[in-house]
Amino acid sequence: MPGQSPTITKLRARGVLAPMKRPLATGSGSVTQAPLALVDLECGDGITGSAYVFCFHSFALAPTVRLIQELGALIEGEALSPVALSDMLRARMRLIGQQGLTMMASAGIDMAAWDALAKTQGLPLARLLGGDLTPLPAYNSNGLGIIGADRAVDEARELVEEGFSAIKLRLGYPDARTDVAVAEAVRAAVGDDIAIMTDYNQCLTVPEAETRSRMLIDTGLEWIEEPVRCDDYAGCAQVRKTALTPIQLGENCWGVHDMQKALDAGAADIFMPDACKIGGVTGWLRAAGLADGCGLPLSSHLYPEVSAHLLAVTPTRHWLEYVDWAQPVLKRTLLAVDGHVAAPDVPGIGIEWDEDAIARYAVD
Ligand SMILES: [Mg+2]
Repeated sequence: MPGQSPTITKLRARGVLAPMKRPLATGSGSVTQAPLALVDLECGDGITGSAYVFCFHSFALAPTVRLIQELGALIEGEALSPVALSDMLRARMRLIGQQGLTMMASAGIDMAAWDALAKTQGLPLARLLGGDLTPLPAYNSNGLGIIGADRAVDEARELVEEGFSAIKLRLGYPDARTDVAVAEAVRAAVGDDIAIMTDYNQCLTVPEAETRSRMLIDTGLEWIEEPVRCDDYAGCAQVRKTALTPIQLGENCWGVHDMQKALDAGAADIFMPDACKIGGVTGWLRAAGLADGCGLPLSSHLYPEVSAHLLAVTPTRHWLEYVDWAQPVLKRTLLAVDGHVAAPDVPGIGIEWDEDAIARYAVD
């Protein structure tokens, strides 16, 4: 019937451990396999919305899958209205809080709901949201962990050869001079025309971050990401005062309320919400509004498939982070052309499961 939302009939979740082409060692631990909770939201008329949640650790995979499954009881039979669903889940989680697994589960459902809604309209998500399929500047984040200068040089060249003009280098070696040596070696290998983002994954103290940002100034870095504990907004603001390189933050903000607190503290020059932790598509749209209000450049964190749609409708869009970590279970590849990535011109997000691969990597 015109004007009526489809009804959600079934919510399903499954877990896979997908192999990573380049396992990633960071200043805060290593990721060697991608633990993914796959979400499917059935809405009748053959429409199924799909999304995934990256669970970071294998020990978080089964609990996330189980939590999503349990939330089915709250949303099956409800109308496919993603904003209303998101607000309902937030209200239902007030007593346990919406961060960590509760936010990841809610956001996975939100992303699947928006995918389903876009499919009901036969539109790519970006077009449903009023945008177009603009090619977005993207950086290759598939590697360049804490691997030493020699390997970093080889990997940096490989990442550029995959069609990118920007790459991300993880720093946070025990000795500050090694950070500088690695950054200088990578800069010499790729040349001055390649943008180099760096990420400390929260591993420094405030004084260390101040010192290292000064020592790195001549390597021409695009940004320094999460130099100190991610929720130490005052500490980040202190680092920012002395750093001449932009301070990047945001992937560990749970919802726009965290983001607002970080902005109030003056913690960052630029921001990169995680499509899941910020609250899915619904949360991202609110984050994009906050960023627009203060002219804050917004990049994405992981989730390139949905982020390509979201950045297309973000007024202050900056860089898309490109990782291929979900690729082993997807049929469609998000391609980089001349350092740019565009969302595919298909209904929804463009996530189509490779069921044979899922069977191979499935975990109970
Ligand atoms: Mg990071």
